[in-house]
Amino acid sequence: MRWRLGRRSQNVEDRRGMGSPVGMRLPGRIGIPGGLGRGRRGAARGGGIGIIGVLILLALGWLLGIDPSFLLQDTTTSVPDREAPPAGRPPADDELAQFVSVVLADTEHTWHALFREMGGEYREPTLVLFSDAVDSACGFAQAAMGPFYCPADQRVYIDLGFYDDLKDRFGAPGDFAQAYVIAHEVGHHVQNLLGIASQVQAARQQASASEANALSVRMELQADCFAGVWGHHADRSRDLLEAGDIEEGLNAAAAIGDDRLQRQGQGYVVPDAFTHGSSAQRVRWFRQGLASGDPNACDTFNADQL
Ligand SMILES: [Zn+2]
Repeated sequence: MRWRLGRRSQNVEDRRGMGSPVGMRLPGRIGIPGGLGRGRRGAARGGGIGIIGVLILLALGWLLGIDPSFLLQDTTTSVPDREAPPAGRPPADDELAQFVSVVLADTEHTWHALFREMGGEYREPTLVLFSDAVDSACGFAQAAMGPFYCPADQRVYIDLGFYDDLKDRFGAPGDFAQAYVIAHEVGHHVQNLLGIASQVQAARQQASASEANALSVRMELQADCFAGVWGHHADRSRDLLEAGDIEEGLNAAAAIGDDRLQRQGQGYVVPDAFTHGSSAQRVRWFRQGLASGDPNACDTFNADQL
């Protein structure tokens, strides 16, 4: 991708290395409702350096001529508050952070224009970079879960270590493969803004388990198609794509299809348990968006054939 001259988004929050004490915070809202996390704050405070420690640090700082707030920083940022997750820093300037910031900015450009055409207004999501684990309005998440979108706080969460997995475990290297991952999550944000996400959520609650799963698949394939729509405009309008990029994206779509993942994971395929669609379906819908550049071509919910 020719991304280096691209605009950077203002909507990237960098929470990498902001310390999620995993052992303490693991029993979060995901997985164990009711929360074993109660009392966590007390425990955390109890484990702090205490008032004596603060006084010693202040005195030391004064003696050594160091700004004491610098010495204290670590104790105040290492215990993020569950009720008010720490505001992320502006992104560090490493190459990967720059890259995702340019991709995010390009999705903003694309979706602003498409929403205007549809007579609406696009609200930009925030992209949160994290390492290992993160707290979101949708609950506590670990990097192993992969990138995700949380409708409740309209944020896309990604541990950039996922890109190593994409390359090494799933055999999908390349910058456009990485961009596709962001564009797919932004696709979920678009579904949220268009009210599709809430309709699907309501329909799922009335449905049987397998019907609910089928709806999830259609939802995922639509996000793939929306990612393709972005790719179309990034290519046509801003000439962001280079030779081989499309193939990288298609390869990534195929590599993280549920059938491929399941075969890797358990050696066989269980179609009913699919939540993202098969590799072939993901490629098909990504291609559909890529060719048309039109979100209306992404109606996976009324398509006879996925
Ligand atoms: Zn998805």
